[in-house]
Amino acid sequence: MKIWESNIRKVTPYVPGEQPKRTDVIKLNTNENPYPPSPKVAEALRQMNTEPMRKYPDPEARMLVEAIAREEGVASEQVFVGVGSDDVLAMIFMTFFNSPKPIFFPDITYSFYDVWADMLRIPYEQKPLNDAFEIESGDYYPENGGVIFPNPNAPTGALLGLDVVEDILAHNQDVIVVVDEAYIDFGGMTCTGLLERYENLIVVKTFSKSRSMAGMRIGYAIASAELIRYLNDVKYSFNSYTMNQTAIVLGAAAAEDHAYFEETRQKIIATRENAKTELRKLGFSFADSMANFLFVTHERVPAAELFAALKEQGIYVRYFNKPRIDNYLRVTIGTDEEMERLYAFLREYLGENYGVL
Ligand SMILES: *Cc1c(COP(=O)(O)O)cnc(C)c1O
Repeated sequence: MKIWESNIRKVTPYVPGEQPKRTDVIKLNTNENPYPPSPKVAEALRQMNTEPMRKYPDPEARMLVEAIAREEGVASEQVFVGVGSDDVLAMIFMTFFNSPKPIFFPDITYSFYDVWADMLRIPYEQKPLNDAFEIESGDYYPENGGVIFPNPNAPTGALLGLDVVEDILAHNQDVIVVVDEAYIDFGGMTCTGLLERYENLIVVKTFSKSRSMAGMRIGYAIASAELIRYLNDVKYSFNSYTMNQTAIVLGAAAAEDHAYFEETRQKIIATRENAKTELRKLGFSFADSMANFLFVTHERVPAAELFAALKEQGIYVRYFNKPRIDNYLRVTIGTDEEMERLYAFLREYLGENYGVL
């Protein structure tokens, strides 16, 4: 071994879902929104030209920050934006999780949390979800260096009520508590209303799911002006210009179109509720998801087998070969037409191979 090798920051990276080269697939594997961004985004894009590219963008991304603040009903000093919420969350880990005590998060959760903790050498403890795949708030009472969990959780879709979120906050007033609301717009209640009472709360949201803009990379945090200042200090010490000009302008256009946002999220909620009925009929069971995906297991057919059979048909879903969840598939809610093709294939496959129905 070379001497310098012992000084390398060796990490096991996060593995994102596959982005297939083929375009004729039904892509239900990375929780993208099946609908296009707001027509206001297309309009803003048509009005853009290359002139602003010559200059550095606004390091404060004010246009975007202000549009988000208006949409969320908070002061612009309470908003921090980043290159997707992954960037926002990484900055939060770096800024606020510096205790020698372990941070707490669930054992089954967004698989980036342990990657950031490992990379930044933050000690952590993973609290097992119960058998119904729910967070047990009591697990988060012991002393810790910070708490983070998604609500609804990923990849289970299970939603915690605001009372449980508040219970976790009430027991953790000496540390920063981060609620990752990547999927909150699909039927949950945001906890931003708790910000007034808990100055240690940070709520993180993204444009990737409910605003159909995963490719633009826009995420944000809402917290007290004081916490946002700490976040900005770290961000400016790392890279002042994370948000490019196009993302700032198009993100602001998306944030301003509340009517379109409502319309698309309601369509996805309706398709998801129908998917619950259809998949139950086919012998699947799942936690009651309030996200834009269902985390399903079949009573007779191994998930790995179904995953492969679906992929061969050009239907991509997500399979995690990990303890406790290796017999589950995470199925993103697509359009009604995409979902019909999924059910049709499953009916045929389960009928032929397992005599289902
Ligand atoms: C998708 C997702 C994110 C990150 O999304 P970005 O595209 O980086 O904004 C964060 N947390 C959870 C739980 C997610 O599922």
